[in-house]
Amino acid sequence: LQEDPHFWTNHNVQVLVRVRPMSNSDATGHSSYGTCLRQDSAHTITWIGQPQTRFTFDHVAGEFITQENLFRVAGLPMVENCMAGYNSSMFAYGQTGSGKTHTMLGDIDNLAYRPSEQRGMTPRIFEYMFSRILAEEQEREHEQLKYVCKCSFLEIYNEQITDLLEPTSTNLQIREDLKTGVYVENLREVEVTCVQDVVQLLVQGAANRKVAATNMNRESSRSHSVFACSVQSTWESNSLTNVRYGRLNLVDLAGSERQRTSGAEGDRLKEAANINKSLSTLGLVIMILVDVANGKQRHVPYRDSKLTFLLQDSLGGNSKTTVIATVSPSNSNAAETLSTLKFAQRAK
Ligand code: ADP
Ligand code: MG
Repeated sequence: LQEDPHFWTNHNVQVLVRVRPMSNSDATGHSSYGTCLRQDSAHTITWIGQPQTRFTFDHVAGEFITQENLFRVAGLPMVENCMAGYNSSMFAYGQTGSGKTHTMLGDIDNLAYRPSEQRGMTPRIFEYMFSRILAEEQEREHEQLKYVCKCSFLEIYNEQITDLLEPTSTNLQIREDLKTGVYVENLREVEVTCVQDVVQLLVQGAANRKVAATNMNRESSRSHSVFACSVQSTWESNSLTNVRYGRLNLVDLAGSERQRTSGAEGDRLKEAANINKSLSTLGLVIMILVDVANGKQRHVPYRDSKLTFLLQDSLGGNSKTTVIATVSPSNSNAAETLSTLKFAQRAK
């Protein structure tokens, strides 16, 4: 996987596909053990089925691509973008078990004293960001350059927002301020000054997410999680204080496997319909934004789901978007893999 100096230069939406390695469980119970994918180049991948279908993306990351490599390609430009005062969002989209959490979070155990090679995008983004911040603050000390980073971590389940850093705060509301834009009312924001601070929030949020899922008797694969960081920089020039804001959003989406609505009733039915709707709204919004970027006049239905409304200021306009579509190569997942590739294709 090659680093791309022009990542985002021509398109504000970048779509990557990441294939996870075959797992042992792919083999058990399936006579059809084998692969449904063939990677043809760094940009193309073929779904080997009926009919055989070839897809082209900005990047295709095969099963041997490392976490570091993927960070260099997709995460690093996000940090640079954020420090330059722009917003960006990264989404992991794919069926449950295809590698979304591995990609976004990976192994974060022991990060403080023995970083694992398997740590994912989020810890690497903050390692890089804090090293860049330190370097820039030193370099521009004469301007008194200072960065302040604040993080929040929330979950959207069944179109309801829960604060993962303050789990008693449920059903939070999205508000819009004419000056500062869209925000979540009463969401906890924590200032972070090093990677360890961030990791602590990630661990705390993940634990709260598990408890919430258990209490409500559901899988955490049915909710979206959004880890957000706002970065404010201030510096002096000609005895004036300058301020700049950038924001990044790291989103681990609900499993994309179609939630069955047949046979479901009441709350279950509503929940299944909400999951399908929020993912399809996201796909639609990204697709329309590509049209808008190409000069077409179109209404962007941000408000049709909590997720897109929440991220309204980080999708479209000057903002940058990365979709990492994670897929399983196993024949036993061929149908879901095809559906994910089609979703990712539409985002182009
Ligand atoms: P999801 O979050 O999409 O449900 P996970 O990230 O939990 O899926 O991945 C499912 C399993 O597959 C985990 O055990 C994870 O460690 C493993 N896995 C996923 N992607 C990779 C990869 N690229 N390399 C190695 N292991 C992976
Ligand atoms: Mg997951």
